[in-house]
Amino acid sequence: MKPERLIYLPLGGAGEVGMNAYVYGYGPKGKERLILVDLGVTFPDMDGSPGVDLILPDIAWLEERRDRLDAIFVTHAHEDHVTALGQLWSRLKAPVYARNFTARIAKKKMQEGGQSFDSVQTAKPRDPIEAGPFTVQFLPISHSLPEASAMLIETPAGRILHTGDFKIDLSPGVGEPFDEKLYREIGDLGIKALVCDSTNIFNTHQGRSESTLAEPLQRLFAEAPGLMVATTFASNVARLRTMAQAARDAGRSVCLMGRAMHNMVRTATEAGLLHDFPTTVTPEEAGDMPRENLLIISTGSQGERRAASAQLARGTYMGIDLKEGDTFLFSSMTIPGNERSVLRVVNDLSERGVEVLDNSGGLYHVSGHANRPDLERMHDLVRPAMIIPMHGEHRHLRKHAKLAAARGFASAIAPNGTMLDLTGDTPVVAEYVETGRLYLDGTAVYGALDGVVRERIKLALNGHVMVTLLLDEDDRPMGDAWADCQGLAPQGRSRRALDEVLEDELADVIERFDRKVLGNDDKLTEAIRRAVRTCCLDEIGKKPEVTVVVSRLAE
Ligand SMILES: [Zn+2]
Ligand SMILES: [Zn+2]
Repeated sequence: MKPERLIYLPLGGAGEVGMNAYVYGYGPKGKERLILVDLGVTFPDMDGSPGVDLILPDIAWLEERRDRLDAIFVTHAHEDHVTALGQLWSRLKAPVYARNFTARIAKKKMQEGGQSFDSVQTAKPRDPIEAGPFTVQFLPISHSLPEASAMLIETPAGRILHTGDFKIDLSPGVGEPFDEKLYREIGDLGIKALVCDSTNIFNTHQGRSESTLAEPLQRLFAEAPGLMVATTFASNVARLRTMAQAARDAGRSVCLMGRAMHNMVRTATEAGLLHDFPTTVTPEEAGDMPRENLLIISTGSQGERRAASAQLARGTYMGIDLKEGDTFLFSSMTIPGNERSVLRVVNDLSERGVEVLDNSGGLYHVSGHANRPDLERMHDLVRPAMIIPMHGEHRHLRKHAKLAAARGFASAIAPNGTMLDLTGDTPVVAEYVETGRLYLDGTAVYGALDGVVRERIKLALNGHVMVTLLLDEDDRPMGDAWADCQGLAPQGRSRRALDEVLEDELADVIERFDRKVLGNDDKLTEAIRRAVRTCCLDEIGKKPEVTVVVSRLAE
């Protein structure tokens, strides 16, 4: 019999901040029983995935082994940890465990994705849950929303502490304060592997508490002359509460704008986790209030075009019109890649005479993730045999692994698809597994390798020409071919309309085609395509994508 082994395999989240999906397994090689921690999404951008709605981890490896999957655990309710359940759960069909608030959000996501959510079970913190050879507990940990948890995973080969997203905050406002004693006790049990958040490894100062924002925010809201608008991630429930309370203390009523914002506040309130959130006013009521008595908290901190912030920046939205003397606050950080979208909103606001404040002074935003000194604190509390960095881009994982090694812990960099064998004293790469991304595009899901997005980018970059040609029973052209251009300059070097130039050129070229070309669809299509691309290169200096439609009259 083969010896049993303990494995760790990130399918998402290790190599990016987003689409977290971590597999653990225990058993004989190739027959391990499996559990999954988190199943989240990443957000698309115009450059890399235009038109796509969500990016999901490719879970093909796990799907092929779903008979061995005993459970899915969700650490917390952020989109990068829970949202892909909405599209992918039915491919796995394992029971889902989450704490109350997370379970409510998970059910919503599954419902929105048209999936049954009967399998979602609400777990209490510290209650042991049996899943195959694993016994798993949710451990409260501080982050930026209610009921964030680390997972204590007991296996026959030792204990794993999977931190989930966390920061060390003794007064996080929402969610449990960081409990040093708890994590020291967990360390006393003996931890084989600490699988640890790496997001803020490059921040060298100690992290600040959410509670430090209350005073500066209240002062800002009290002193700002006109209407005050603030944006943050809708899922940053802690910040919504901090801002709403600061507004109340500064004599402003709070109006929430954006569906995600309403959902989060309602769900947290229904779960009994937000009892001290000030009552809010509707946008209609807000329209009748003096501007200086109002704080609007809006979605769209990343500059998303359709979100409330961008709409307010562009013009009247829900009856609210921003103007000279108003103030707009970004109580958030900009995710790398979103800078241009955010700047567009900032400039739109600037054109309206609105004063824009961002996080550059560090006064109005603190991160939900542990900075380097706090990560070191976690290492020291837990004292694991090995540290496996997760939740970060490759540079974050590398830096964290280096830090761990320098501090005397065994460590390894394991980006998505790297299966580590954790059975021994040090992590060993066991194998590499095919991983990647899936795209949710409208209501369809397809793989990155299907080439759809690649094709869409090509169309966007190169433009498109459609050529239609009709042939009779004897393969003779019936009239000229016609060309229809999309996304191309209307005219080029010859100062004539591009489609006319193309049609003239095609008339010349097709006249010279012999029967062999005219009688063969493939040859004809290729010859026309080449003629169009050559002609366009000549006229406008570009080679567009070309579609040729050949229609033949039946015999
Ligand atoms: Zn999070
Ligand atoms: Zn996260």
